[in-house]
Amino acid sequence: MTERRVFLNGVMVPYGEARIPVQSCAVKFGASVFEGLRAYWSDATEELYVFRLEDHVGRLLSSLRLTRMQHEFTREFLVGSVLMTLQANRYREDVHIRQTAYIEADGEVDTLGPVGIAVDARPRRMTSKDSVAACVSSWCRISDHSMPPRIKASANYQNGRLAMVQAKLDGYDCPLLLNSQGKVSEAPGACCFIVREGVALTPPVTADILESITRASLVELFGSVLGVRVIERDLDRTELYIADEVFLCGTAWEIMPVTSIDRLTIGTGTVGAVTETVRKVYSRVVRGEDETYRRWLTPVYKASGPEKDGR
Ligand code: PMP
Repeated sequence: MTERRVFLNGVMVPYGEARIPVQSCAVKFGASVFEGLRAYWSDATEELYVFRLEDHVGRLLSSLRLTRMQHEFTREFLVGSVLMTLQANRYREDVHIRQTAYIEADGEVDTLGPVGIAVDARPRRMTSKDSVAACVSSWCRISDHSMPPRIKASANYQNGRLAMVQAKLDGYDCPLLLNSQGKVSEAPGACCFIVREGVALTPPVTADILESITRASLVELFGSVLGVRVIERDLDRTELYIADEVFLCGTAWEIMPVTSIDRLTIGTGTVGAVTETVRKVYSRVVRGEDETYRRWLTPVYKASGPEKDGR
C-alpha cells in the first residue's frame, strides 16, 4: 500500500514528511486549531461526499480569529485543501479528515504567526460501537472566561483528555462533563441530547460546549424530518438520570446511545426508539440519500470534473 498523502502548506507530501518543528509554538504551547470532518462514500452515486464542508471551514476561521493567529487563508483555499487531499488519495470509502492550522514559528506565547496548514484524511467507517456506559466526570468543563470552549483549539482538549482517561480508569466508556455552573455541558468529543416524554433536549451553545455541527444538524432534522420538538436549555445533572434516552453526537462519534450513567440504567438499558430513528435519518442524510439535505454535502470527484474517470 502506498503511503497516504497529506496537504501541507499547499503541496501534497507523503505522511512521513508532514512534520512540524519541535520548537514551534504549536508544540510548545498548544497553539493550534483544527477541524474534524467526515466524508462518506455512496455506492449508489459512486461519489464521496464531505459533510458540511463550508460550515467546518467557517468554524476553523472562527477558531483562527479567536486565537488571534495571523494568517491569509481564504475560505476557498481552506475548502480546496480538503478536496485536494481526498482527490490526491483517491478515496472511495468513508474517511475522517483532520484539518489543522498551527503556529509553526519558534516563538514566545504571544507569537501570532506564521501559521501552517495541514490536512490529513484516513479511512474510517461509521462507528461500530453500539452504545456507551458513561459517568459524570469530577473534572469540570473549561469555561468561556478561561478558554474558548466553543471553538476547536487543540489546547482545550487536555480538559476532555483528563476526563476521558479518568473515566476509562474507573471502568466507564466515556465521561459527561458539567460546566462551572454545575449544568450539563458535553462529552470530550461529542455533544449530548436527552429525550424525555417525546421531547429532545440539549444544552445551549452558552453551556461551554463546542459549537457542534452535528448538534446543529440534529436540531434541524428533529424538527423537519422527525417531527420531534427540540428544546435548547440548561440541563441539570439529575435530568440525565431520569431521561428516557440519552445520546451523544459528533462528527467522529456520529450518534452514540448512552445506556447507563454512573451505573444507573437509562430507559430500558437498550438503544431508545428516538435515538434509533435519528441514527437512521442521520446516516441517510450524510450519504446523500435525502434529497432535501444534499445541500449539506460537497461531492469530491464531481467537484473536480471529468478527472473522475482517471481515478
Ligand atoms: N464537543 C467537542 C469537544 C468536540 O471535540 C466535538 C467534535 N468536533 C464535538 C463536541 C462535536 O462537534 P461536531 O459535531 O462539530 O463534530
